[in-house]
Amino acid sequence: MKEIKGISVLPSGKAVGKVFRAKIQPAFNMGSYITDILPEHETDRVRNACLSVKNKLAPHAEVNEIFAAHMEILEDILERVVSMIKEEKTDAVSAVGKCCTEICAMFADIDDEYLRSRSDDIVDVCRQITLALTENNENPFSEMPANSIIIAENLLASDTISIDLSKLSGIALKKGSNTSHLAILARNNAIPLILGIGDELDAIQDGDTIVIDSEKDMVITEPDEKLLSEAARQSTCKDETDLNPAITKDNIEITVYANAGSLADVKRAISAGADGIGLLRTEFIFMQGKDFPSEEEQYNFYTECAKICQDKVLTIRTLDIGADKQLPYYTMPAEENPVMGLRGIRFSLSSPDILKTQLRAILRAATSGNIRLMFPMIISVTEYRQACTLLESCKTELQNENINCDQTLCAGIMIETPASVLLADEFAAEVAFFSIGTNDLTQYMLAVDRNNPYSAGVCDSLHPAVMKSISDIVASADKYGIEVSVCGEVASDSNATELLLKLGVRKLSITSSGIPAIKQQIRKQSIN
Ligand code: PEP
Ligand code: MG
Repeated sequence: MKEIKGISVLPSGKAVGKVFRAKIQPAFNMGSYITDILPEHETDRVRNACLSVKNKLAPHAEVNEIFAAHMEILEDILERVVSMIKEEKTDAVSAVGKCCTEICAMFADIDDEYLRSRSDDIVDVCRQITLALTENNENPFSEMPANSIIIAENLLASDTISIDLSKLSGIALKKGSNTSHLAILARNNAIPLILGIGDELDAIQDGDTIVIDSEKDMVITEPDEKLLSEAARQSTCKDETDLNPAITKDNIEITVYANAGSLADVKRAISAGADGIGLLRTEFIFMQGKDFPSEEEQYNFYTECAKICQDKVLTIRTLDIGADKQLPYYTMPAEENPVMGLRGIRFSLSSPDILKTQLRAILRAATSGNIRLMFPMIISVTEYRQACTLLESCKTELQNENINCDQTLCAGIMIETPASVLLADEFAAEVAFFSIGTNDLTQYMLAVDRNNPYSAGVCDSLHPAVMKSISDIVASADKYGIEVSVCGEVASDSNATELLLKLGVRKLSITSSGIPAIKQQIRKQSIN
């Protein structure tokens, strides 16, 4: 096995697939196609080319603001190119190339990384115009087989229009930016995408089986059997279904929720047979825009998710950023040790306006479905109460504004810090439910960085200390009659199912692709 380090745009999950090397056309500069330049002729050509690009983008622009922005860029480029053709008597292809270079040079001087990476959109639109001008309609992904991992120097947002997402397991790029629109689209659609792999990608052959490990930010070549089966289980692209309940041999029904990060995830989970969403990571909706999402944007997203779940539970976790989860438009303070720093609920309580916007959106959306609220990284009852005080003040505000919301919404917490394990009894007396985040709990319990490849071997969610924690948490939850589920990755591991059930866990929240396998595993168990 060989591990190649990159930067992943998703915080977790693995993907396995066969390499498909996409032969992408260069962005522009495809040579001059005209020798006798007739400016009127070239102007007509570029207008027609832009019209055909516009027609292609239009249906996507209606549902996706990235492509709506491309339509605006298209108009701007057309104007510039037309005056360049007239003034410099150049051909249309060269004019588009020159225009692109000039605008990108201006972007290169911008300090802000997010704005700088918008030059990708200029290159993208210019490439589309150039392809239309040279009548190149070839789709570089048309021959892509099922379960592919695309490998390329770089991809642009418009490439995603030509990719059959049902055949895509993931994308690995030599270059790329975490703030590019391609990265945003990947997050939005939960596509495992790993960037900045560099020249090591050249050694990987078409058809090779590789694994993308989003959590460890790496591509793994020549994976062994163990990793392959683990990755297949966690792969976000497998679409198997099991709609029947998961009942053990001794007749105990186990709830199998799913973890989700996007609308596509929620749809996939419910159609795969999830009993609800045990963890909706809201980081994705925060990562995909240019700024913090507005109350309205969040309200629409949560409402859409709730509608898909119908009467099934939808557990919305408030923003859990910090450490490895960063927002492209927001610079966190420089921290020596960010995993122990401003993250999860600590960040939210330090920015109450951001939390209140989210709480208002959730309270409003909760009128359309079976929504529950959950706070991440809680370490003290005081912290939980502070978050609940903000929740109550949002309820009062909404009521005073005559805005419909769920006045009865209450909150549960993630148990993912040693402090919350030790205080489980105190918490259980106050909170609505527990969800055990074994990913962070393992990291903090064992003092081992969950993202550090050198200590991956010891970052074991089946360590006896983690297992004892789970058993203690279940006992506290049972004592106070509140629900407890496990939503960390270990819940998706069919080798851990028996142990978790024996520890008293009756609700799991897992990656949706694992639903059939975990349900099957549950049906083999006899608990008592
Ligand atoms: C966890 O820590 O186990 C968890 C589910 O949260 P995340 O992986 O999003 O940190
Ligand atoms: Mg966590």
